[in-house]
Amino acid sequence: MTVANEAAIKNFINGKWVSAAGNEVLDVMNPATGKKIAAVPISTAEDVDQAAKAAALAFKTWKLMPVPKRARILFKYHHLLTEKHAELAKLIVSENGKAYKEAYGEVQRGIECVEFAAGAPSLMMGESLSGIAEEMDSEMFRYPLGVVGGITPFNFPMMVPLWMFPLAVACGNTFVLKPSERTPLLANKLAEMFTEAGAPDGVLNIVHGSHDVVNGLLEHPDIKAISFVGSQPVAKYVYEKAAAKGKRVQALSGAKNHHVVMPDADFDKAAQHIISSAFGSAGQRCMACSAVVVVGDGDQFMQTLKQKADDLVMGNGLDAEVLLTPVIRDTHLNKVIGYIEKGIEEGAALLRDGRRDMENQTEGYFLGATIFDKVTPEMTIAKDEIFAPVLSVLRAENLDEGLDYIRKSRYGNGATIYTKDAQAIRTFREEADAGMLGINVGVPATMAFFPFSGWKDSFYGDLHVNGKDGVNFYTRKKMITSRFDF
Ligand code: NAD
Repeated sequence: MTVANEAAIKNFINGKWVSAAGNEVLDVMNPATGKKIAAVPISTAEDVDQAAKAAALAFKTWKLMPVPKRARILFKYHHLLTEKHAELAKLIVSENGKAYKEAYGEVQRGIECVEFAAGAPSLMMGESLSGIAEEMDSEMFRYPLGVVGGITPFNFPMMVPLWMFPLAVACGNTFVLKPSERTPLLANKLAEMFTEAGAPDGVLNIVHGSHDVVNGLLEHPDIKAISFVGSQPVAKYVYEKAAAKGKRVQALSGAKNHHVVMPDADFDKAAQHIISSAFGSAGQRCMACSAVVVVGDGDQFMQTLKQKADDLVMGNGLDAEVLLTPVIRDTHLNKVIGYIEKGIEEGAALLRDGRRDMENQTEGYFLGATIFDKVTPEMTIAKDEIFAPVLSVLRAENLDEGLDYIRKSRYGNGATIYTKDAQAIRTFREEADAGMLGINVGVPATMAFFPFSGWKDSFYGDLHVNGKDGVNFYTRKKMITSRFDF
């Protein structure tokens, strides 16, 4: 919907809150109420150009600031974010809809990224070797790249931007962030607090909008690298286009995460982990369990799973007992209902129909926990990322068959096994075709000091976000070879 640009939130360019050049805006909705809470400008390439130029100018001095001084700004930022932990979590609930407890955890994960980035003096250290030949030494130094562009999704409005800009700027780069147009509010809060922490003008810039801003970043000659997180088709597009423009790029993409339940697993605990992984944040996590593989006779496990799904409390994320929260928009809800219809049409057994739970909802974009049993690997609901509280259960005779399902998936973000059997754990660890594995863990997402390691169509690029990969992504190396016998 279009309203006056003046009523919209602002872009943040060169340390100033500025209106976008065009007039187009979108409503930002609270998914739990379906009510408008703000308007976001749909900026243009002109806005991107201003931000990129400001960032390029800021880079000239920011890169010269001693690394420990840059790190001190991140320490201050860490302190401010920690002080506002609860406030930030509430803001996430209002624009994203997830449960307060989940949002609180997201803030924590984000703060940990700042904590990691504050170690820049150690992280940026190079390498050296005295005596590569007679009277000769070699040294490697790390330098920033220049201006980095970041493009982020709606599902982690705080954590994903913090995967990117704290480490990028700690390494001496400057940054232009394009947050999701569906959850743009957190980004402005992050920029405001980063300025309060002492970040100079132009080091972090925010340009709100959608594909025009993305294309503006991909095209802009001053932008040297792109960090992207979002859905698979857009990730692939961004990866290809950025690479064609000679930019360094990391593009984190969609997922279909399989959880294998072995016959010896503690069914109660396994079902509990699966329920909170599949239905927490309404299934809108890239590490959510979206497919379960039950090995052996799984009927007893399925009863436990169904019972726990029936017990879930659905509602506004601000209510403490709620786990099942709304999906992001009504358009997404309609798409998901299409998937449920498709699952029925393709012959899966609808064990629990979450559409029934919608009948009592008077507002918001809610769908109850939906479970399909006897799903086969070729069905659409087994293959596609649905990104909603819809769980597909496949049956397997043995672990090998379960591993084969994982192998056949185009995605490879995460996978989990529930078992006490050491041999099964080892086989799973060696054979599961995904980059982040859980052993009896429902959401095996890595922490800030390890790379977030999606495989296959869950990631395009070679250096992942976070950990040493993140440092390598945001720096380039310079080799010095010296002779001393002249
Ligand atoms: P999305 O792809 O719709 O949007 C992501 C970003 O791309 C947004 O900033 C959006 O404005 C922009 N965008 C959307 N369409 C575009 C287009 N046609 N051209 C250019 N830019 C475009 O993703 P989303 O719905 O916001 O987020 C959910 C997706 O993100 C899921 O697929 C989820 O798995 C994925 N995700 C992946 C990870 C990971 O680590 N692999 C983490 C979080 C989310």
